[in-house]
Amino acid sequence: MLRRTKLTNRLKQCRLVLQKLMLRQLSYRLFPGHCLLCGSPSHRPRDLCRDCETDLPFNRPACLRCALPLPAAEQNTPNICGACIARPPPFEFCLAPLHYKFPVDSLVNAFKHQGKFSRGALLADFLVTELQYKNTLPELIVPVPLHWRRQFQRGFNQAAWLANYLGRRLAIPVDHSLLRRHRHTPHQQGQTRKQRLANLKGAFHLNRSVTGKKIAIVDDVMTTGSTARELAKLLVKAGAARVEIWCLARTPLEK
Ligand SMILES: [Zn+2]
Ligand SMILES: [Zn+2]
Repeated sequence: MLRRTKLTNRLKQCRLVLQKLMLRQLSYRLFPGHCLLCGSPSHRPRDLCRDCETDLPFNRPACLRCALPLPAAEQNTPNICGACIARPPPFEFCLAPLHYKFPVDSLVNAFKHQGKFSRGALLADFLVTELQYKNTLPELIVPVPLHWRRQFQRGFNQAAWLANYLGRRLAIPVDHSLLRRHRHTPHQQGQTRKQRLANLKGAFHLNRSVTGKKIAIVDDVMTTGSTARELAKLLVKAGAARVEIWCLARTPLEK
């Protein structure tokens, strides 16, 4: 087991040296990684084989504002969901490249609860791919803050880790102290909209001015969207020019 780990590390080092020499494709040919889903050798920059990537539940079509998965029948028309038409969200748009269902949920859980950062990076790369096609990128990335008690229990804030990763990949600064969660809120799942809003009211605090700034809020999964709305509302009210939401995956609204 130890020998195998040493060998894997040596192969990764060789790959990195070749990458530094601008021989990226060749490096993956000679020293393949392993697909994080099926374990087969992967000759691609992503630790995911082509078949497993094809089978991923991509979030298309989705609402252009809140990324809510929409029925396939509406695939070729630009769509805004009923909830966003009735009550436009305070953010410009939400990007969520994947559905929060198998195997994305397993990858997110391994990242979030077991600290398997390679899974987080793998999923975040789908966000990077989509963001590279955007004409304008925000000037600041802000992670959804965790209450200190939950961060202590988990050991790290998964949104902060993602914000750092995306900031590095996209060359955008990350601000970890702009927002603070000063009230511990229970998990949102299974609560009514009214209960969720009541729980989040006053849960966040903004530490400094954001006048005129274009900001992206980063989280792992958007479930109800209540947290994203609350944070975006706070930033817009404080003068932010534009707020967008980036997350790895999106769940459909509960019925
Ligand atoms: Zn695979
Ligand atoms: Zn929507």
